[in-house]
Amino acid sequence: MFSKLSSGHPALIASLGVPRIGPRRELKAALEAYWSGRSGAETLLDAAAGLRAANWARQKALGVDILPSNDFSLYDHVLDMSVVLGAIPAAYGWEGGPVSLDTYFAMARGRTGVHPAACGCGQPHEAGRADHGVPALEMTKWFDTNYHYMVPEFEAGQRFCLASLKPVEEFLEAKSLGFHTRPVLLGPVTFLLLGKSKDPSVPPITLLEELLPVYAQLLGKLAAAGADWVQIDEPCLATDLGPDAQAALARSYRYLADAVPQLKILLASYFGGFEENLQAALGLPVAGLHLDLCRAPDQLEAVLDGARPDLTLSLGVIDGRNVWRANLPRLLDRLEPVIAARGAGQVQIAPSCSLLHVPVDLDLETGLDGDLKSWLAFAVQKLEELAILGTALRIGRGAVTAELEEAARAAGQRAASAKVHDPAVAARLASVTPEMAERASPFAVRAGVQRAALPLPLFPTTTIGSFPQTDAVRKARSAHARGEMGDGAYENFLRRQTAEAVQWQEEIGLDVLVHGEFERNDMVQYFGEQLSGFAFTAFGWVQSYGSRCVRPPILFGDVSRPKAMTVEWWRYAQSLTAKPMKGMLTGPVTILNWSFVRDDIPRSEACRQIALAIRDEVVDLEAAGARMIQIDEAALREGLPLRRRDWPAYLAWAVESFRLTAAVAADGTQIHTHMCYSDFNSIIEAIAAMDADVISIETSRSKMELLDAFRSYSYPNEIGPGVYDIHSPRVPEIREMSELLLLAREQIADRQLWVNPDCGLKTRKWEEVRPALINMVAAARLLRQTLAAA
Ligand code: GLN
Ligand code: ZN
Repeated sequence: MFSKLSSGHPALIASLGVPRIGPRRELKAALEAYWSGRSGAETLLDAAAGLRAANWARQKALGVDILPSNDFSLYDHVLDMSVVLGAIPAAYGWEGGPVSLDTYFAMARGRTGVHPAACGCGQPHEAGRADHGVPALEMTKWFDTNYHYMVPEFEAGQRFCLASLKPVEEFLEAKSLGFHTRPVLLGPVTFLLLGKSKDPSVPPITLLEELLPVYAQLLGKLAAAGADWVQIDEPCLATDLGPDAQAALARSYRYLADAVPQLKILLASYFGGFEENLQAALGLPVAGLHLDLCRAPDQLEAVLDGARPDLTLSLGVIDGRNVWRANLPRLLDRLEPVIAARGAGQVQIAPSCSLLHVPVDLDLETGLDGDLKSWLAFAVQKLEELAILGTALRIGRGAVTAELEEAARAAGQRAASAKVHDPAVAARLASVTPEMAERASPFAVRAGVQRAALPLPLFPTTTIGSFPQTDAVRKARSAHARGEMGDGAYENFLRRQTAEAVQWQEEIGLDVLVHGEFERNDMVQYFGEQLSGFAFTAFGWVQSYGSRCVRPPILFGDVSRPKAMTVEWWRYAQSLTAKPMKGMLTGPVTILNWSFVRDDIPRSEACRQIALAIRDEVVDLEAAGARMIQIDEAALREGLPLRRRDWPAYLAWAVESFRLTAAVAADGTQIHTHMCYSDFNSIIEAIAAMDADVISIETSRSKMELLDAFRSYSYPNEIGPGVYDIHSPRVPEIREMSELLLLAREQIADRQLWVNPDCGLKTRKWEEVRPALINMVAAARLLRQTLAAA
C-alpha cells in the first residue's frame, strides 16, 4: 500500500543497505556448498542473484523509494572494494583481467598449499598444488559492530586499477529487473584508513592520489550505466580524524565532484556523530549528507544550522544497530519541522546505517513472548516503520493513525512492563557499595594465601576452557534440542565427554584443569538462557563474517539469576580429579557487548545488573569448593567507543562491573580472566585495574608483540600469554613454544608466568589439540628443568 503513495512525491524513504544473508541464511548454505565442492560457481552466483532480487523486491514492496545496490557481498563489502580497486596483494597470484572467485575467496579465507614432501613446514597439504598456500587477509571488527571485514593490504609501490565492475554490474542487474538503485560504495578515505600498508614508510592515506582516479573511473561508469545518485560511505567521520584525514576528505570529494559532475553523491556517515568533523563534513562538495540520529540525536540542530540550503539531508532516524521498535509519533515531532523548514525533496528518512547489523524478519519468530515481540523491529519491520513515517510526512498523520497509535502504545507498554522492570533488581543495584568491588586484600597478600592453599609448579599449565566441539557433541545437542534425545541420555553423554576430557588432561600432566564446556552452545547464550531479562530468537541471525552468523541474545529486562548456572558441572568435573578445576564463567562486559542491549537504560547500568548476577554464581562456585574461577572478558576491548575521549568512561564502568563480579571471592580463591586479543598497549592500566589474579591473553600469532605494553608498564599480577595459536590447525612444536616462553620471560617475572593456549579449543579437532597440548606441557617442563639445572 505504501509504495503507491509515493508516486508523484519526491523520493523520501531511503535504504542504505540490507542484510545479505537472506531470511534463512541462504547465503551461508550457498557459500558452504560451493566451498565444499558440493556445488559449482554457477549455483553460488545464481543463489546470490536470487538474494539480491528478493531484497530489491522486498524493499520496493515495503515502500522504500531509494533502493541500494552493491550493498550485497559474497563475503565482505570491504574485500569487494579491495577487489574493485585492484588492491590484490601479489601473494594471491592475480595477474590482471577479471578477478576469479578462487582469487576472491583466497583473499577471504586463505588457500592451502601442497608442500613438497620434504619441506618440513608442518602446514596441511592439499593435492594438486605445489606451493605453500597463502593466508587470508587479516580480519578485524567493522567499527564498533560485531561484523568483521577483511583488512585491505597495500604493498610497496601499490598501484590501483578498476579490476572489477561489480558495482556497475549490480546496478545494471537491478535495472534489468525494473529497479532503479543508488549504488553504495565504501569511500576512498575510509577505505584507506581501514587498510594496512606493508611498507611502514608509506601510510595508507598517502596512496590517495593513486586511488582517486580509479574511483572517478568507477563513478563515470556508474553514471554512464544510468545512475543519478551514488551513496558513498565514510563512517570514518564518526571517529577521531586528524587534520590530514579531514584534508583527504576535502581533496577526495572535490576531485570526484569535478571528475564526475553529473553524478550526485550522498555522503553517508554512521555509528556516531560528526562532532569535531562537522565543519569538514559540511564543507564537502557533495549533493547529500546522511547523518546518524540514533547514536547522535543531538547533532541535528548543528547540522541544520550549518548545512547549505541545497544540501539533501538523509536523516538516520530508525536504529540500524538495535532491535527495538521506534516510537513513531515522537520521531514525527522531530521530523515534521525539518521537512517544513527545508522542503520535501531536500530531506530523506532512513535507517541510521545499513541494516546489515540487525536480523532480517521478526515475523519468522513464532516463539517469542507476545509483549516482547510487539516491542521489536528487525530489518523488514524497520523499513515498514520508515514507510509509516513517510506516509505521515507526505499526507499527514491522519493517513496512518492506527499505525502511529500502535507504535506509541507498544512504547508505553514496554516502558511500564513488569517483564522489563524488576523492583528487586533496582533495590539491589541501589545497595551496591564501592567496597563490593574490592577484594579483601591486595594482590600481593592474596597471591601468598593462594600459593599456600594450592601449591603449583613454576610456569603452571592450563587451558582456556573449551575442548573440541566435535560432530558428536553438536549432533547430540541438536538431537536434544529437537527432543529426539532425552534429558537423561544427553546428560550422560555430556558427562562422558567431560570425564574423558578430565582424565586426558590429567594424563598429559596439565596443572590446572577445565571441564571442557561441552554443555555450552555458546559462551554468552549459555548464561543468557539461564538469566532473567534475556530472550533468544529462532532466526535472528546477523552476519559476523563471511558465511558466519551469530544470533545475539536480546537483553530486554532487568537481569537476575534465578538459580546456580554452572555449579553442578563444575562439581562433577572436580569430583573426577584431585587437580584444581577452574570454574568457568562469562563476564558481564562480554555478555553485554555480544547482546542486543536495552535502549531505555544506560549500557553501564545493564552491565552492572549482569555483574551482580554473575557475582551470585561466583559465590555459589566458591561455596561448592571451587578455588579457581575464570571470568572470561573476551569482548571487553571491542566495546571501546569509537572516539578516544569516550574511552575512560567506558573503561571505568567496564572494569568496575568486572570487579563487582569478582571481588566477592575470598583471598584464597584465585580469580582468572581471559581476553582474546593482545592489543593492550592503550588499555593496559584498565586491564591491571580489573585486578584478576591471573589473566590469559592471545599472543602467539604476534610473537609476543603484546609484551610491548609490559615494557613500559609492569603488570602486577599473574599472566599467561598464549603460546599456542588455536586459530590454526597447525600443531606447534615444543621448540616454538619454548622460544615464545623465553620471549615472555624478558618482560614477565617467572613467578608471574603461566603457560596456556591463546584461546578456547572448541573450534579445533582433538587430533590437533592432543599433540599441541602435549608439546605445550613439555615446553613448560623443559623451562622448569633448565631453571633447576642453572
Ligand atoms: N572459556 C571460553 C572458551 O574456552 C573462552 C572463549 C573466548 O574467549 N572466546 O571457549
Ligand atoms: Zn579467547
